[in-house]
Amino acid sequence: MLIVMKTDATQSDIEEVVRVINEMGLRAHPLPGALRTAIGITGNQGVVDPTAFEILHGVSEAIRVSKPYKLVSLDLRLEKTVVRVGDAAIGDDSLAIIAGPCAIESREQAFAIAKDVHRSGARFFRGGAFKPRSSPYAFQGLGEEGLRILTEVREATGLKIVTEALDEAGVDLVERHADMIQIGARNMQNYSLLRRAGRSHLPVLLKRGLSATLDEWLLAAEYIMVEGNYNVVLCERGVRTFAQHTRYTLDVAAIPAVRQISHLPIVVDPSHAAGKNYLVKPLARAGVAVGADGLIIEVHDHPERALSDGAQAITPEEYEDLVAEVRAIRAGSVPAMV
Ligand code: PEP
Ligand code: MN
Repeated sequence: MLIVMKTDATQSDIEEVVRVINEMGLRAHPLPGALRTAIGITGNQGVVDPTAFEILHGVSEAIRVSKPYKLVSLDLRLEKTVVRVGDAAIGDDSLAIIAGPCAIESREQAFAIAKDVHRSGARFFRGGAFKPRSSPYAFQGLGEEGLRILTEVREATGLKIVTEALDEAGVDLVERHADMIQIGARNMQNYSLLRRAGRSHLPVLLKRGLSATLDEWLLAAEYIMVEGNYNVVLCERGVRTFAQHTRYTLDVAAIPAVRQISHLPIVVDPSHAAGKNYLVKPLARAGVAVGADGLIIEVHDHPERALSDGAQAITPEEYEDLVAEVRAIRAGSVPAMV
């Protein structure tokens, strides 16, 4: 059920609807929009009687939601969500750029790359302290030491820190050191982790699972939102197909397809989709051309020495060139050709 408030409904009208919802043992999710507030209702097993709400002051209509997702949907909020991360944002008019190494390897490495990311005008620095590696013998990340380095990078540069939490205890740690929680592709259906992120005060970057459908991905976002955290950014990072020429296949159609359904911002990760450095720039261009709200890019000052994902890492010089090109596409000053 979705309660649409009248455009002139007051804050106390909204509070009264929320109170009635809570009294019924259900959960209210008020999402203010530019023109009106809508209030999503979750927690009901069966159907909720709309008349209980239609009689309340300031209510325009009560709509039954037949789709599997409620809170991510455009039914609840007509205009795009802008996720604010301190004084930076994802989903507004600017193109958000999140860049940095796959993994934090040392203080020197993190600071060297952060300097270039900062110079490019990007507002976000990425880097894994906890790495979800396919092999248990591969480098697993520096753990808390990596998080401490990230905090130092934030203090020195003002960049917002985006880093992955692999489990619920990891969210506790990321909350202490970073600005945005990344949930990796392999964890997209880790429902207890999603719920924990949903109880966090930090925004969440939710990667699409390796072979997740759009519905599964949006329902994963719904898991976070149902717990009360509405600051979710979706990230298309490629899905598994029969292609051999790329690590995954970047599903560029997912960006306009998500826009048809959801108000959440969506960014593109060309690095993991590509798996090879020469493909990162063309895929980044494609992502921006189809309307992504931002990019997340892996950059390394010495890709040949990288402890993870070196083959897809681009150098600071290549990164600088990429940023100039995607900004020009976004500004409409060059044709959006790939
Ligand atoms: C990463 O960002 O380094 C990462 C592991 O990404 P994904 O979860 O998309 O594989
Ligand atoms: Mn990586």
